[in-house]
Amino acid sequence: MQTMYQQMDADALAQAIEALRAQVEEVKARGLALDMARGKPSPQQVDISRPMLDILSSDADLHDGNVDCSNYGFFEGIPSARALASEMLGVPAEQTLVLGSSSLLLEHDICGQFWRCGSLGSEPWADYSAKHNGETVKFLCPAPGYDRHFGITADLGIENVPVPMTGEGPDMDVVEAMVASDASIKGMWCVPKYSNPTGETYSEKTVRRLATMKTAAPDFRIFWDNAYCVHDLYDETDDLANIFDYTRGTENEDRVVAFVSTSKITFPGSGVAFVGASPAVIAEVSAFLKMGLISADKMNQLRHVRFLPNLDAVRSHMKKHAEFMRPRFEAVERKLAEGLGGTGCATWTHPRGGYFVSFDGPDGSAKRVAALCAQMGVKLTPAGATWPGEDPRDTNIRIAPSYPSVEELEAALDVLVLAVKLVAAELAAEERA
Ligand code: PMP
Repeated sequence: MQTMYQQMDADALAQAIEALRAQVEEVKARGLALDMARGKPSPQQVDISRPMLDILSSDADLHDGNVDCSNYGFFEGIPSARALASEMLGVPAEQTLVLGSSSLLLEHDICGQFWRCGSLGSEPWADYSAKHNGETVKFLCPAPGYDRHFGITADLGIENVPVPMTGEGPDMDVVEAMVASDASIKGMWCVPKYSNPTGETYSEKTVRRLATMKTAAPDFRIFWDNAYCVHDLYDETDDLANIFDYTRGTENEDRVVAFVSTSKITFPGSGVAFVGASPAVIAEVSAFLKMGLISADKMNQLRHVRFLPNLDAVRSHMKKHAEFMRPRFEAVERKLAEGLGGTGCATWTHPRGGYFVSFDGPDGSAKRVAALCAQMGVKLTPAGATWPGEDPRDTNIRIAPSYPSVEELEAALDVLVLAVKLVAAELAAEERA
């Protein structure tokens, strides 16, 4: 598709650029300092979980049933927390662990475990290359995706291979063809609901194909990071099929390792993190992590389950979060539609939940747009971060609307719209030169 600037004659284009540059100078003079970089809730939004902090006072009963949460023991997590994990992950409580406060750290540690030790008797991923003519181990990375996932695998020396997204998850024709023929592909990152950053939810067909596809690597693992499983904006929600329904009792039983945390339910960084997998994988992960941990913070687990005893309680708490998030997502949609609708300069996603909107400008624009926004006082997630390695077309920008106030967000989006227009106009002029 052509941008409106590509369709202008040379004089009109030169005038448009001059006018846009003048607007940019005006904005720079305002000295804005706005941040749309990382997906974190606003301070007021975090405050809705404060009542949880009053639950464990010095005279509180610190037992969960007959488990004393004030002492060592129960490495796997307290029973009530494992019951909640079971509901959120879609596996029986015995197949869950409640550990620490960060799902990302669990993903990091478990990926590192498979790298160093292998999984269920297979050779360590770290040894693969030496035994297979120097071929590198690879991970499939639906892109645009989550930069911190790509960082975990890249740090181990795993090659991240981008896979396109379709609007209902990764392109499964591409995924199936790759994993069927290449045993060096050992795993895949997935954020199956309200994906970071596109906001899309994997369709039932995508979930089923991921669970049942043939893989050349017998130890292929899906890191199923369901970080946004309850993060709906509207009463009408996206539905995600339970991937374990398709693997249970099959030859692919051990394929999926699922993660959830309460970082964006209660307190980011001070929530509880859950992992769920097959009985065999949970046993091996547990054995490994036990080397470095006697038991996790069970007081925090107790506080959480007294505040949010089950999935229904979590869902009603999430409705309060949605009150903060909905106007912000709607502001993004409104500002982008007003500023860029019909210009041919951009497309963006329209999520019904999660934390992000994925934005694509013209080819070769994203880095320039982010730099121009920075000059105008608006910080964005670094352009290209949503891709493993480089964004091949340099189009994608992740918009994180949760932290600023609606007014700040609107101001930041005006800046983004202006930057996209100027860069699109300059690109059109450079194309002709
Ligand atoms: N996974 C995804 C997809 C995320 O977007 C984030 C950021 N909230 C995390 C994991 C990090 O979660 P945690 O705080 O549990 O480590």
